[in-house]
Amino acid sequence: MKVLVINAGSSSLKYQLLDTASQDVLAKGLCERIGIDGKFTYKAPGKTTIDARSVAMPTHSEAIQAVLDALVDPGNGVIASMREIDAVGHRVVHGGETFAHSVRIDDQVLAAMEACIPLAPLHNPANILGVKACSAVMGAGVPQVAVFDTAFHQTMPPVAYTYALPYEYYQQDKVRRYGFHGTSHKYVTQRAADMLGKPIESLKLISCHLGNGSSVAAVAGGKSVDTSMGFTPLAGVPMGTRSGDLDAGILEYLMNRHGMDIKEMLSVLNKKSGVQGVSGVSSDFRDLCAARDEGNERAALALDLFNYGVKKYIGAYAAAMGGVDAVIFTAGVGENDADQRMAIASGLEFMGIRMDPDANSIRGKEAIISAIDSKVKVLLIPTNEELMIALETAALV
Ligand code: AMP
Repeated sequence: MKVLVINAGSSSLKYQLLDTASQDVLAKGLCERIGIDGKFTYKAPGKTTIDARSVAMPTHSEAIQAVLDALVDPGNGVIASMREIDAVGHRVVHGGETFAHSVRIDDQVLAAMEACIPLAPLHNPANILGVKACSAVMGAGVPQVAVFDTAFHQTMPPVAYTYALPYEYYQQDKVRRYGFHGTSHKYVTQRAADMLGKPIESLKLISCHLGNGSSVAAVAGGKSVDTSMGFTPLAGVPMGTRSGDLDAGILEYLMNRHGMDIKEMLSVLNKKSGVQGVSGVSSDFRDLCAARDEGNERAALALDLFNYGVKKYIGAYAAAMGGVDAVIFTAGVGENDADQRMAIASGLEFMGIRMDPDANSIRGKEAIISAIDSKVKVLLIPTNEELMIALETAALV
């Protein structure tokens, strides 16, 4: 089955056309600056790459049209006609408590997605725009599926998702831990079971998705039982520019001292904190490692803070699950940064984690990076959210 995977942002739209049988990416690319001056990028094996070409894209509909035009282009395309696209799979950030699984989109589902907008006011409206643009351009005949970032974590028990706040804030206002990166955590934990040759139902796994945004998930028997992000993706480990967990009392104190309103305060927590905020250097781990190696102490502190934060979640989730069979590293930092993986795992020998430094000196490839006699396996598994979305879409269609 050929599935077009769409990840629509407010002014951008990432796309991939995948063949779910072979799991090949037939073409992929990006529409940027939608509503501004439209830039279109397209890459397909053996075809001429289009790099940030100016294409008029006043709305997401023209962006989808540009994608389709490129895919069916007689010279440079990868399919003969749009009819070859069997389904569209959309990444949707927030499904609230309504969506514990991916769903085929109809009017009722679209209304329920719209009802989730208050939970993700920056992301869900853009995801919905992507759905509507596909309907407008491709017609109602092409099935569309929504794959939610939050859905995988809907299996968390109340003890993991309830905040110690007045209970009516949960009942009336839906304030609870939702968790994010669910598609990634689901994909890598399924791959881990395959790599270990064991049924996922028998495994206790800790998945560390470490990128610009980072989250850790405890996955027991294939089900998410806890995760570090919360009501929003601001919680958990320190990230590129996000603070992660912090004492809520700090907000009023800083707002008073610096005359900030809540919007400005949240902008600091989301965009100026994390390893960027602590180091003053960069949110990019490559820059941070280079600065640390040149003796920059704050860059070293930022990296230590990140590693310590992830390490603490690994310990916490081993305790939550009563043990752990494997720890998984994925996403930009988890897949590429051997130093951080080693720093996070070192000191955890007491709980049966022993790294193999040689096996760990690898990037972006599935591998077991723990020592042969390590009781707890440590796995490097490149995430593939697009493939997961395509497979879920194909299964539903
Ligand atoms: P993501 O959000 O998953 O795309 O991850 C982005 C992060 O991965 C950035 O902080 C990058 O610095 C980091 N990253 C990518 N490649 C490397 C690398 N070779 N070494 C260290 N960090 C990397």
